[in-house]
Amino acid sequence: MNEKQRQESSQVNPADKKSEKDYSQYFQAVYMPPSLKDAKKRGKEEVKYDDFGIPEEFRGMGQGRKFYIRTYGCQMNEHDTEVMAGIFMALGYEPTDGVEDADVILLNTCAIRENAENKVFGELGHLKTLKKGRPDLLLGVCGCMSQEESVVNRILKVHPFVDMIFGTHNIHRLPNILNEAYLSKEMVVEVWSKEGDVIENLPKVRKGDIKAWVNIMYGCDKFCTYCIVPYTRGKERSRRPEDIIQEVRHLAAQGYKEITLLGQNVNAYGKDFEDMTYGLGDLMDEIRKIDIPRIRFTTSHPRDFDDRLIEVLAKGGNLLDHIHLPVQSGSSEVLKLMARKYSREHYLELVRKIKEVMPNASLTTDIIVGFPNETDEQFEETLSLYREVGFDSAYTFIYSPREGTPAAKMQDNVPMEVKKERLQRLNKLVNDTSAQKLKEYEGKVVEVLVEGESKNNPDVLAGYTEKSKLVNFRAPKSVIGKIVKVKIKKAKTWTLDGEMVEEAVEVK
Ligand code: SF4
Repeated sequence: MNEKQRQESSQVNPADKKSEKDYSQYFQAVYMPPSLKDAKKRGKEEVKYDDFGIPEEFRGMGQGRKFYIRTYGCQMNEHDTEVMAGIFMALGYEPTDGVEDADVILLNTCAIRENAENKVFGELGHLKTLKKGRPDLLLGVCGCMSQEESVVNRILKVHPFVDMIFGTHNIHRLPNILNEAYLSKEMVVEVWSKEGDVIENLPKVRKGDIKAWVNIMYGCDKFCTYCIVPYTRGKERSRRPEDIIQEVRHLAAQGYKEITLLGQNVNAYGKDFEDMTYGLGDLMDEIRKIDIPRIRFTTSHPRDFDDRLIEVLAKGGNLLDHIHLPVQSGSSEVLKLMARKYSREHYLELVRKIKEVMPNASLTTDIIVGFPNETDEQFEETLSLYREVGFDSAYTFIYSPREGTPAAKMQDNVPMEVKKERLQRLNKLVNDTSAQKLKEYEGKVVEVLVEGESKNNPDVLAGYTEKSKLVNFRAPKSVIGKIVKVKIKKAKTWTLDGEMVEEAVEVK
């Protein structure tokens, strides 16, 4: 950690006043808890770009030791797990599939909903027994929950057997944190409340060799009133285009077939660059020239979705025309309370523009029902917007307050039975529309990226179309990892059944 970051961290244990060298010399525990108040601040300082490296003294730290990471939540977390696995491997640790023979267990947590948090606390309860029997086991909590003051306080109080807590901004510090945890008898808490720098050259152990995630930016400045992410992931900061392009080229050379560009609000990509005007559309325009069959991006924010991006997406090719565009509500009043910074009309105009140049684009969305003050009429507006856009499908949620967010201070005044009834009605519409859309595929030939055996039947292969429809079909296992043409025979509620018509044709 550099001096600036140390000063910026919220609260520092007296031990931190020592230099880094003194610090490990005296075996003091790191105690650097998060502060929501500091996490709200958005600094004007330039983002610093740094390269990852393993300090010489930590090499071989993992010899003869195994690690296990359990991941909760979104693709960002899944990808962070790939990075942490890469760091573990670089330190000499080996992966293991079960907690029983692990020497280090990490829970990479999600803070988006209370339910997700409860699962983690339940898991900590189970791991307590394991830890009692094996005191040398290191147990860590990382990810978004670690960035919340209330969570860290609860772990300190209720689960003192946890060895380390670290946040989303200092994953690259894992070697140092592990070292501290081995040396210290106290819990190591190192959570930076303010965003870190952009660290390049992080090692990664990717899950699979067909599809890959590539981070293009970190953090979010939108501060939607219900969302904890801007506090847990820090301010928006973009990776340099040359670093992203190099990573994608490298993945293409390794034979990956699909890349998903990742960020909490990818449409804000490049807004933080001070030396050039460069956005997501410009980046996609470069990446589409790379020889990789499929390119996606997630997650989009309608407010920042600009004409340049639409113009580039319209070029097609390896840029897929499936766009996940969270709307959250069809009512402008509710959107205002959510601080989404767009209206129903703005959203519909954006959809119109997208469909004008990509008439076959498939749109999916996220919707929250039962936000504070949401009336029946406002909920009806969500249903009518859903019909008007003609979404392919949606992730739907009942609103629940997240501690520390502005919406948590609003009166959660929609009764639970009303929320449930609205969710049921919305889900019926989502399911009916989705089934109807899938039905239209019957008899058509689609291109499927074959990912492997179906979860339910090892004799059947499964893969996704360009528009993210899951297709099951019989074919030799040799086509796994390839793009093949499949004729759709039957549409089910959520999936399509088909028959391969062209074997392993690389269509792009
Ligand atoms: S755009 Fe809104 S909902 Fe999405 S991560 Fe940012 S604050 Fe949360």
